[in-house]
Amino acid sequence: MSPILSLTDVTLVHGDGEETVTALDKVSLEVSPGELVAIVGPSGSGKSSLLAVAGALTTPTSGTVRLADHDLGTSSPRELARIRRDQIGFVFQSGNLVPALTSYDQVRLPLTFGKVSDPRDPAELLAEVGMDHKAKRRPHELSGGERQRVGIARALVTRPHLLLVDEPTAALDRQRSQDIVGLLAREAHEHDVAAVMVTHDHDVLHHCDRVYEMIDGRLNAVATSTD
Ligand code: ADP
Ligand code: MG
Repeated sequence: MSPILSLTDVTLVHGDGEETVTALDKVSLEVSPGELVAIVGPSGSGKSSLLAVAGALTTPTSGTVRLADHDLGTSSPRELARIRRDQIGFVFQSGNLVPALTSYDQVRLPLTFGKVSDPRDPAELLAEVGMDHKAKRRPHELSGGERQRVGIARALVTRPHLLLVDEPTAALDRQRSQDIVGLLAREAHEHDVAAVMVTHDHDVLHHCDRVYEMIDGRLNAVATSTD
C-alpha cells in the first residue's frame, strides 16, 4: 500500500548562530495505512520534533514531508491548518482533555471546529474505546487510562489518515499501558489509520508493526522479535 506519510531526508535545526541544535538529522520514514510504527529513544533525541514535523506543526530546515497528496513544504499556512484539522489526529501524554467537558463532548469537540465530511459517531467511538458507560463524566472523574481512551476517541472522530501519539503510557501502570497501546494498534489496523507512536516503554513494542530508534536526531530501524 502506498504510504500516507513520507519523510525524506528531513533535517530540523533549532536556533541560529552558535547556539544551534540539530533535532532531526536526515530522517526518512514512510508510514502506510493500517500500521502502528513505534519510535523509541532517549530524552532529547528528537522524537517530539519528528511528530511536530509529521503533524505539520513545524516546518523542517530541509527535506520533504508528504502527507497523502500534499507536499507540506509547498502548502500555505491555511492549507496546513486544514490538513491538521482534517487528516491528523494527535494524542498526548495525559490525554489533554478540557476540564469542563464530558467524555462525549470531548470526543465531539473536533467536529465543532468546521465542516467534517465523514465524521465518526462520537457515541459509537466512545463504545469502541470502552468508555460509553462514562460518556457523561468529566476528566476529574476518570482514571489516567480512561482519560487516555477518551483522548484517543477524540483524535479519531474526524477519521484522520494519520494518528500521531506522544508518550501515551507515560502516566499509566503496566496493565493499562498494554490496554492503551493494544487499542491504538487495533484502531490503526481496523480503520486503516497510519499511526506513529513515540514511547519510552519497551514492554508495549510487541503491539507495534515496526520499531525505530532515535539517537541524536538520527532514525534507525530496530529488528523486532517477530521479524
Ligand atoms: P525528545 O522528544 O526525544 O525528548 P525533542 O524533539 O523534544 O526530543 O528535542 C530534540 C532536541 O531539540 C533537544 O535538544 C531539544 O532541547 C531541542 N529542541 C526541541 N524543541 C526546540 C525548540 N523549539 N527550540 C530549541 N530547541 C528545541
Ligand atoms: Mg518528547
